[in-house]
Amino acid sequence: MQHSPASENTPNTAEIQQIVDSVYEKYKNVDDGEVATYIPELGKADPSHFGICLATVEGHIIKAGDWDKEFTIQSMCKPFAFQMALERWGREKVLKHVGVEPSGDAFNSIELDAKNTRPFNPMINAGAIAVSSLIKQEPVEAGVQHFLTTMSKAAGRELKIDQDVLNSETLTGNRNRAIAYLMRNFGIIDEQVNESLHQYFAQCSVLVTCQDVALMAATMANMGMNPLTGERVFDFQFIKYVLTVMFTCGLYDYAGGWAYEVGLPAKSGVGGGIFGVVNRQLGISVYSPKLDAQGNSVRGILACKELAGHFGLHAFEFTNVGSSFMQWLL
Ligand code: GLN
Repeated sequence: MQHSPASENTPNTAEIQQIVDSVYEKYKNVDDGEVATYIPELGKADPSHFGICLATVEGHIIKAGDWDKEFTIQSMCKPFAFQMALERWGREKVLKHVGVEPSGDAFNSIELDAKNTRPFNPMINAGAIAVSSLIKQEPVEAGVQHFLTTMSKAAGRELKIDQDVLNSETLTGNRNRAIAYLMRNFGIIDEQVNESLHQYFAQCSVLVTCQDVALMAATMANMGMNPLTGERVFDFQFIKYVLTVMFTCGLYDYAGGWAYEVGLPAKSGVGGGIFGVVNRQLGISVYSPKLDAQGNSVRGILACKELAGHFGLHAFEFTNVGSSFMQWLL
């Protein structure tokens, strides 16, 4: 790793900015993949959009491209919802409703772990709907609002739900309804199936920017405290469990390849977002709406790989002794 010598008290963000800019330039013309259209409203996304943001636990923010464009969080809501379920019910009860095993299957597969008749993990739709069932409230809008408020604290600004995306998914989400009724059949979720689905669809429809997501990731990296506002958002004792499931299951049927190549707990969404958490160091977020066959952002994967390589962020990088990124700031 080469970088300039430490300069007194001045964070070396210019050098980091240069690297982030070069990654942006390198991939901004990659045109592979398709924008998701199975939720019709998502098809309206501008395929040229490409944003990158890094947020450190110290509160440094480095960004490039379309870092301020809004898009829906989609499946990137899943780790945060899982965190909220653990905080509300504890590990033992949550584990009765959703496992922690990689499924190796697509995000929307209609199947349960046959041994335990529960979803494999909270990062696929089945598990996420089970989690939504656990964090929903009465009336259902109170649970949605609680989720939105918590995510707003993690982002450090007031977030909104994209009603058009929510309506679009509610109208067309028959596959998720099938998954939910399968789980109802096995008693994994309660009889309020529509409420659980509404909670899940609303969670997926939260509008975020790349910077919002980077700050959410940095809040996880910072033991649950938003690095900019200093507000405690998440109970740190559960974050390690959430990061573990992200590490093994966050990228669906590319989860193994991702852990091998990039080596970070991460989560993607069909809106085109992807984020990674470097524990105790930073959050990385990339947005670009064209997806590969697994439903992961094409430019997002390329940019994350490149950034993790440049900064030595892989969890098992031999230079990574718990502060690999921090030395770039010195
Ligand atoms: N709302 C989407 C769905 O349930 C989320 C999927 C995703 O981002 N992978 O299909």
